[in-house]
Order: sequence, then C-alpha cells, then structure tokens
Amino acid sequence: MADENKAEIVGTPALDGTYIAEMDMWPFECQEFNRIYPFYDNLRAGKFTTTKCQKCGHIAYPPGVICPRCWSDELEWVELPQRAKVVTFTETQAGAPIGFPSPLIMAWLTFGEGAPLKHLLARIINCKEGELKEGDEVKFVVFDVPSHPIEVKKETKIRERVYYAFEPVK
Ligand SMILES: [Zn+2]
Repeated sequence: MADENKAEIVGTPALDGTYIAEMDMWPFECQEFNRIYPFYDNLRAGKFTTTKCQKCGHIAYPPGVICPRCWSDELEWVELPQRAKVVTFTETQAGAPIGFPSPLIMAWLTFGEGAPLKHLLARIINCKEGELKEGDEVKFVVFDVPSHPIEVKKETKIRERVYYAFEPVK
C-alpha cells in the first residue's frame, strides 16, 4: 500500500485527477466514515465476506450493523463463496457511466444449493465484448479504486480504496 499522504490519483480517473464528490460512486471505506469497514479490510485480504446474526443465524448481504430479521446487533463476519454461475446478464457496449470502461457487464449470479448466499447482482470485469454466456462460471476478484481524501482532525488524509467484481474462469 502507498504512503497515506501521497495523492497520485484522487477521484474518478476520467476527470484528470480532479476530485468531484458528487460523481464518486465508490463507498467511503475507512473506519471514520463507515461502520462496515471490516468488509473492505477483508476485501484487501482477498476475502468476500458479510455479516451473520449470532442470535438467529440470518446471513444478510450486503453486510450491515443490525440483523434485518430480528434487529439484533450481535453480528459476526463470515466468508462467502468466491465462485458462482451466471444466470443472466446485461452488457452495455456504448455509453457506460463515466469511470466505467465498456463493456459494462452486470450479471445475476447463483451460488448454488446450500450456499450462505443464493444470488447476487455483480459486475463482471476482465471480459471482452460478446464473450460472456449464461451458465459461465465466474470468480471473485478485488481491484483498486481511486483513493479518497478525508478530513481527520483538520488534516487531509488520502484513503486507499478497493472494490470487488467477478471475472470469467478461464
Ligand atoms: Zn437475527
């Protein structure tokens, strides 16, 4: 990881290094702004995780700070499967939102019977136009996101960010 105060690229790359908060579609990942920050720490460690309720056993995705079923706040982090199959998908070949290269592929994934998470809508990367098919196997992948400046005790710090997607299994 780079030096905390070194700002090489800040913001959406298409904006030439100018940070415009309104156009930033990535989550604030640091502890100062986000109570589910362990999700992002886990991403950095290559783990796909979510929260499980210790009271009723419900596994929710996306992760949260309160169980949506029984309102308990006694949650623990559990790992999710990293391989899935494509049920169906959309592929935007032109006019993808700023910051997203074409094709922009969003897929409805299934993790199969018995998995803690049945389905997920996820982005597919590292895939050429027209290459993805229904039924294809995909795997979890973590990628870098432009860093984010935050104010901590009147000091501007640069927070590195990552996010996840899935990619075809070759
Ligand atoms: Zn619960």
